[in-house]
Amino acid sequence: MIIELKSNVSEKRAQEIAAEVKAFCIHYDGGYVLITSSSTKSLDTKFESETERVTVLNDDMQLSSRAWKKETRTIDINGVKIGGTTMNTALIAGPCSVESEEQIEQSAQLLKELGISIMRAGAFKPRTSPYTFQGMGVEGLKLLAKMREKYGLQIITEVRDATNVEDIIEYADIIQIGAKAMYDHGILKRCGKTQKPVLLKRGFGTTLQEFLQCAEFILAGGNPNVILCERGIRTFETKTRFTLDLCGAAWMKEYSNLPVILDPSHAIGYAYGVPDLARACTAMGVDGLLIEVHPNPKVAKSDASQQLDHDQFRALTGSLNAVANSIGRKII
Ligand code: PEP
Ligand code: MN
Repeated sequence: MIIELKSNVSEKRAQEIAAEVKAFCIHYDGGYVLITSSSTKSLDTKFESETERVTVLNDDMQLSSRAWKKETRTIDINGVKIGGTTMNTALIAGPCSVESEEQIEQSAQLLKELGISIMRAGAFKPRTSPYTFQGMGVEGLKLLAKMREKYGLQIITEVRDATNVEDIIEYADIIQIGAKAMYDHGILKRCGKTQKPVLLKRGFGTTLQEFLQCAEFILAGGNPNVILCERGIRTFETKTRFTLDLCGAAWMKEYSNLPVILDPSHAIGYAYGVPDLARACTAMGVDGLLIEVHPNPKVAKSDASQQLDHDQFRALTGSLNAVANSIGRKII
């Protein structure tokens, strides 16, 4: 149940009511909002004079639900806006990992050339093997910060675990929580304590309900700026790396108020299919795409098989604009 308190209710009073009804208390849209478990179905009438609106929900997908908030949230990334009524489809691109200054600078130059404003690259990589490249760490974050300054880009980079969450919050413009870290409650709760936008990726073995409930940990912590990212789930299929759940994306667009981004690169795992998938994703009218592109994919230190080279990426962006325009959207 979500209880919106009247705007004249003080923080102290909001906290008192929250303690009494066992609720989270957040400040949202100029007032205090309390969130109880969805199993609580009614509020004592003694609070009537202090409440603006009470929304009873069927499950614990609460703050993220359209049942509570009809409009898609607008996420403002230092002036770059997605969601809401913007009709923007944000192209978020860059290599899987930061590997060197030369490599990340070539990536930044490509984005600048194409008018793309959000660059992705991991500095702390959650690899499936301990014997492979694990990322440049804080050195990589510093290179990303340098590119932000030099090329005026917004930076999205992923938090791997509790040991780097503070560094990521400090350096990133959008904090990425990867598929493997989606269930890390320490990370989720910490990200609820900042106001920086968070891109939460769906774990490859999680249901939509489980995914949305992870988003709730961030929202209920007080951070309203969450973006959902579908990046492929594990099915019986082995020819592709994962299976991009476009039905799930349609479901999230219908039932969630959070912007939805699709990641065709990690889903298929092979560069040959990324352009077709990216066009299909754009045609769905989602709020953004996450695409891996590398100056020389053959020598990439992670996810080499799925990264587009610069020419392939240039060709793709032309066709994405056409698809986006055909449904009244704009690639930014
Ligand atoms: C990535 O974006 O490079 C990444 C590791 O993605 P995921 O968490 O979806 O595997
Ligand atoms: Mn990757």
